[in-house]
Amino acid sequence: MSEKQITVTSPLLPDLDEFNEMLKEIWASKWITNMGQFHQQLEKELCQYLKVPFISLFTNGTLPLLTALQALHITGEVITTPYSFVATTHSIWWNGCRPVFVDIEEETCGIDPDKIEAAITPKTTAIMPVSCYGKPCKMDEIQAIADKYGLKVIHDAAHAFGVEVDGESWASKGDMISLSFHATKVYNTLEGGALVVKDEATKKRIDFLKNFGFAGETEVVAPGINSKMDEVRAAYGLLNLKQVDEAIEKRRQVAVKYRNALRNVPGIRFFDDMPGVRHNYSYFPIFINAEEYGQTRDELYFKMREANVLGRRYFYPLISTFSTYRSLPSAGAENLPVATKVANEVICLPMHHELSQNDLERTIDIILK
Ligand SMILES: *Cc1c(COP(=O)(O)O)cnc(C)c1O
Repeated sequence: MSEKQITVTSPLLPDLDEFNEMLKEIWASKWITNMGQFHQQLEKELCQYLKVPFISLFTNGTLPLLTALQALHITGEVITTPYSFVATTHSIWWNGCRPVFVDIEEETCGIDPDKIEAAITPKTTAIMPVSCYGKPCKMDEIQAIADKYGLKVIHDAAHAFGVEVDGESWASKGDMISLSFHATKVYNTLEGGALVVKDEATKKRIDFLKNFGFAGETEVVAPGINSKMDEVRAAYGLLNLKQVDEAIEKRRQVAVKYRNALRNVPGIRFFDDMPGVRHNYSYFPIFINAEEYGQTRDELYFKMREANVLGRRYFYPLISTFSTYRSLPSAGAENLPVATKVANEVICLPMHHELSQNDLERTIDIILK
């Protein structure tokens, strides 16, 4: 453990002096939360950056999921993926709905559209897909099924900040699109998140819901929650937005180096760029075929840890295996063979804007050994 620790991610931090200047403005104004100047400015700048018409800021990336389901009056059963961060399924549960797990496909690690229809029942009201690792899931197919059965699509795009397909924002796909600005994500506001919506009336309703349902000083129009982003984090977010493209470019260079080094290693699979897609390189997952590689995923994972290189097994274990969800009828491994296989093969390698050549060589050497 003598060598420096290499972590799987590292937060993108604004310049401290610039941040301090903005803090002085906040102190002077004494307006520290409740949709202040920086909150409004960040919403405007994010709409431009993400090429979306309306966005509503949140205090983290879980509450926009919860609020989207509320706003769309989702009830009954919601079809989702077990291969995600646990917040995806929790948001369904917190709305009193039943999560129905559908298997993923290996190509994108997203929900397999060919398996969705078999999971639809008269109680199904929505589909909640995830663009896992920022890779676009099969949204056209998912949307076609949703249209056919009259279902809503709530897109958990927590990993997909800045992703574009054929010049179109991936944060525009679905009825409502949820983003996370958590410290570990490509773009962060310390903690934070947002909901992208399609029209002004919906944006207004979301803004009521995130502020206790207040529609005016004395009027409450819905049982809302409190999930407003404060001015300090909005200011931080404005500064980070100026440098996120540079960070994504550095991540891209890391991905290129990993791919070049690992391309011909038997038993190791990874994703290449997809044509027409602007990727954000939020994660660099590799998938280990133990037989061909000669070691299991866990053998490699613990060897990395011994060398102080901290990969992460995202997303292992599957959400469907947690004690809270494993008794659901859709949670059995026999229903989820691809997700089960992928969860047992994956390691996300260190991926962030500050990885040095030496960090990369140390990581790659362990894998090649
Ligand atoms: C990070 C994440 C969330 C939750 O975001 P928080 O900002 O941490 O609340 C939701 N879904 C996915 C897929 C995530 O990775």
